[in-house]
Amino acid sequence: MRKFLIATHNKGKLVEFAALLAPLQISVISAGDLGLPEPEETGTSFAENAQLKARAAATAANMPALADDSGISIAALENGPGIFSARYADGDYPSAFARIIAAAQQKDEWRARFTCALALGQPDGTTATYVGHADGVIAKVPSGIKGFGYDPIFIPLGYSETYAELGGSVKDKISHRAKAFEQFALALAGITSQPAD
Ligand code: IMP
Repeated sequence: MRKFLIATHNKGKLVEFAALLAPLQISVISAGDLGLPEPEETGTSFAENAQLKARAAATAANMPALADDSGISIAALENGPGIFSARYADGDYPSAFARIIAAAQQKDEWRARFTCALALGQPDGTTATYVGHADGVIAKVPSGIKGFGYDPIFIPLGYSETYAELGGSVKDKISHRAKAFEQFALALAGITSQPAD
């Protein structure tokens, strides 16, 4: 079994990374476990932020490191908060949900999209990036207790429940992170994958 360094300090993401990588015979250790510092996210896109996190971890630990940068883009907020999703909530998700639902209600515009950029960094500083999206709508009422972050207000297209109600068994198959992982897994298997956009 191979071991990959996961360049995240976010427990929710680490759990999802471990579940997605297990079928590829890859176990995980996190940047948090190794006490690696979190680099500042100074990029202007999900891909740039994922690349800088992966590069920082891979060069510091001298082993391949996977990082993701992800977030939710909400049509009623002019596609924000996007790369600023963690900062928009600032640890208070119920307040963020209320602000988002109010904006969606005001414009009667409920569309939303999750994006995940996944970057694999190497100790020499090179990176490869894979991007996945999940489209959906904002729930009128936050629902569900599974998952993390914005999961209680995101209903993926084709479903009537939120990510937080559907839980990992569904989310790990259909999510933005799962789609980025599909590309990564293809590349790992040596099959040509699509370049990141
Ligand atoms: P970062 O990628 O660590 O900068 O932060 C991404 C932020 O986007 C998280 O802290 C969550 O607020 C949000 N986010 C990203 N992916 C998900 C997800 O799968 N479910 C819910 N929220 C997410």
